[in-house]
Amino acid sequence: MNNECVIGIDIGGTNIRIGRTDENDQLVDFERVSSKETFKDGNISESLTEVLKNYLDKYCKNVQVKQIAIGIPATLSSDRKQILQVPNIKGMDGLFLGKELEENLGIPVVLEKDVNMLYYWDKYDKKLSDEGVGIGVYIGTGVGNAIFINGKPLAGKDGVAGELGHIPMIGGTSQCGCGNLGCSECYASGWKLVELKEEYYPDVDMNDLFVKKSNDTVLKNFVDNIACVACTEINILNPDSIIFGGGVINMKGFPKDYLEERLYVHARKPYPAESLEIQYSEDKVDNGVKGAIIFAKTLLEK
Ligand SMILES: [Zn+2]
Repeated sequence: MNNECVIGIDIGGTNIRIGRTDENDQLVDFERVSSKETFKDGNISESLTEVLKNYLDKYCKNVQVKQIAIGIPATLSSDRKQILQVPNIKGMDGLFLGKELEENLGIPVVLEKDVNMLYYWDKYDKKLSDEGVGIGVYIGTGVGNAIFINGKPLAGKDGVAGELGHIPMIGGTSQCGCGNLGCSECYASGWKLVELKEEYYPDVDMNDLFVKKSNDTVLKNFVDNIACVACTEINILNPDSIIFGGGVINMKGFPKDYLEERLYVHARKPYPAESLEIQYSEDKVDNGVKGAIIFAKTLLEK
């Protein structure tokens, strides 16, 4: 009987998801708590400590927790100790959340960008080699991007590499949530899709949008925008593997064939265009937690 475990946590704008490993390294005791409720006072460290203490009391009384890994929907410093900027949760900017939780709980805590946790899971799930360059493009509310080199996420000098959603589009004038004008996210994200639906298809249910309208020029242009944005990265990196995921890509009727057609159009010929191999991530509620667990375990193996 293995009395040790690791805990993976995925913090989102709506929910905090938590899970741990059992003796067979499988995810168990998966729980969701409301982010809005938990973080309503803005005392992030204290509130999260409380949530984790409850979780530990409930599930880990007779188990030693070796490591906690947390996926954060934000930019992080290059050493992953400080949260730089979070769009959706007040009170998180500037926090050294890992250190504070470690002091409160007496358990090692590491942070990583949430999209990198998703990619850790997808890399494992699809049995991708650690060798070379792998990218993940996750079209959810925004544009999430993971770049892995030899099995590790690329952080960059300040920690903010892979901001594919904030590539400036030439001539772009739309206001991005980051403060800049004309970022790629303004043309190829879930929030843009919601805007398009409201403007062009007010009577169509969001869930049926691609089922009913994917042949319309408006939505074809939207899918082409996603291909354009992804190809800026594909043409720079010529990656060994490419994963697409996120809520938009997983919508019913999303035209994957058309996306791949447009990726081929925008990719440089003959390569990388001729060697594109696209894989798709299934949008499951526990992917971020499972990825965090995999990340935590790689730290223990060192
Ligand atoms: Zn931006």
